[in-house]
Amino acid sequence: MVNLLQFDRAGLGDFCEQLGEKRFRATQLFRWIHQRGERDPKAMTDLAKSLRDKLATGAVVEALPVASEQTAADGTIKWLFDIGGGDAVETVFIPEPGRGTLCISSQAGCAVNCRFCATGHQGFSRNLTTAEIVAQLWHAEFELRRRLALAPGERAVTNVVMMGMGEPLQNYAALLPALRVMLDDHGYGLSRRRVTVSTSGVVPMIDRLREDCPVALAVSLHAPDDVLRNELVPLNRKYPIAELLASCRHYLERAPRDFVTLEYCMLDRVNDSPEQAKALLGLVRGDGSAASPGLSCKINLIPFNPFPESGLHRSPAARVSAFAAVLLDGGIVTTVRKTRGDDIAAACGQLAGEVQDRTRIGARTGRELPHRVEQRVAAPVSRRAGPAARERSVS
Ligand code: SAH
Ligand code: SF4
Repeated sequence: MVNLLQFDRAGLGDFCEQLGEKRFRATQLFRWIHQRGERDPKAMTDLAKSLRDKLATGAVVEALPVASEQTAADGTIKWLFDIGGGDAVETVFIPEPGRGTLCISSQAGCAVNCRFCATGHQGFSRNLTTAEIVAQLWHAEFELRRRLALAPGERAVTNVVMMGMGEPLQNYAALLPALRVMLDDHGYGLSRRRVTVSTSGVVPMIDRLREDCPVALAVSLHAPDDVLRNELVPLNRKYPIAELLASCRHYLERAPRDFVTLEYCMLDRVNDSPEQAKALLGLVRGDGSAASPGLSCKINLIPFNPFPESGLHRSPAARVSAFAAVLLDGGIVTTVRKTRGDDIAAACGQLAGEVQDRTRIGARTGRELPHRVEQRVAAPVSRRAGPAARERSVS
């Protein structure tokens, strides 16, 4: 059986051709799936009968099984999806007046292994498929439309951030068609500025994304110099800050916004001193020379969400304010991320709380699994889940 969630519209056209049908039928089919949330080909009444029959026997719209769902006091919803093989990923919906942001996972685990990230600490299990990435949006959109009884044409999810579990640019082949489904006017019709890819800095793939599908870009910087960033984000050893900022500048030539968002997780006495704020300011403002041209950016300071094995602590509010003040005084738009959904462990770095299969993951990563906060999810399939960030900035 072919899962129709794996295709962008061009891919669905190829599939229709393989079935001996006209390519243009794919647009109708795509609209049924992604605009109306229909799973049953028999209900797709304006499709040619021949196509409906072939779909009924050879294709499915296969959603992800929900292992658990939790709603926070502030309305944030977190779904844990069972992706088989003992893995699970999380998706978080953050409602706000006039918009709904969905934070989507791209991998089970992550290979980048950032020091402050619970997903990184758990190691890498596998890439999600395009269908698994799209299924997170499909489920959230149509489930919420039903619950909220939205009028036809009204959308529940207005923004997508690829800030769940995993490094999206290390799963580029699956990510790209998924982004196209999100942007397609016959699909979710999200504008490029409302879809954000967040990356720890996979430089060659930032360049690819620029060519293939330039959406809004967020870069997880976390340090103003290579020595510290090498420690916090090990990928920096491969793609140091100067190269990363150069690829951001290049990206901006085609980006839907004229700035890159730099994410900076505030770690007490590690990266949060006024001197480091000044160094960061120098980095992004540059000095006008070719060697240091700066970067058009907004900086988003994220309060660290601690977990015991990290050995790290959240910066006190006063240090965050002082850090922000240096940047603001230097003319850089700076926001402090508001934590959402923390009572259901849905904020940055909190999503890794639901680990049950310790033996298996311990064996796979070759290390003891961290001791986690109390189990909040009783579902037998829950295993691992992402860090992730599901908050938005407030000025
Ligand atoms: N891999 C991508 C996207 C997923 S992580 C990336 O690193 O950008 C999304 C965001 O959550 C990143 O900015 C990451 O730095 C942040 N994050 C991870 N663990 C965190 C924690 N414990 N506290 C606060 N933010 C965290
Ligand atoms: Fe991976 Fe992002 Fe976590 Fe780093 S912060 S380990 S890149 S998910």
